[in-house]
Amino acid sequence: MTYVVTDACIRCKYMDCVEVCPVDCFYEGSNMLVIHPDECIDCGVCEPECPAEAIKPDTEPGLEQWLDVNAEYAAKWPNITVKREAPKDADDWQGVEGKFEKFFSAEPGEGD
Ligand code: SF4
Ligand code: SF4
Repeated sequence: MTYVVTDACIRCKYMDCVEVCPVDCFYEGSNMLVIHPDECIDCGVCEPECPAEAIKPDTEPGLEQWLDVNAEYAAKWPNITVKREAPKDADDWQGVEGKFEKFFSAEPGEGD
């Protein structure tokens, strides 16, 4: 089992989650984060920290797409353990549907 980041994170990227993860298993793309499924210890502390409710346990149905995205990009993007400022318009993107199709970027973020 692992936790996964879904497309609710795209363009929100508040990064509250990275501060609480005991094993530093978040990885940063240009406009979202992902969790490394082999490093996550399923502690669950990040889930309630996310203002966008983007983090889900993979025991919930319908998350296969996000499991694949998290596994693929955790291997490609840099590790992030320290919170930075959220995008200025992050609140405008909270709850917007279909963000993956419109805005997903495979570009890596800055990392730590
Ligand atoms: S707290 Fe939520 S929205 Fe912010 S970076 Fe983490 S998963 Fe994305
Ligand atoms: S469930 Fe725990 S180990 Fe997994 S990403 Fe969240 S805080 Fe990190």
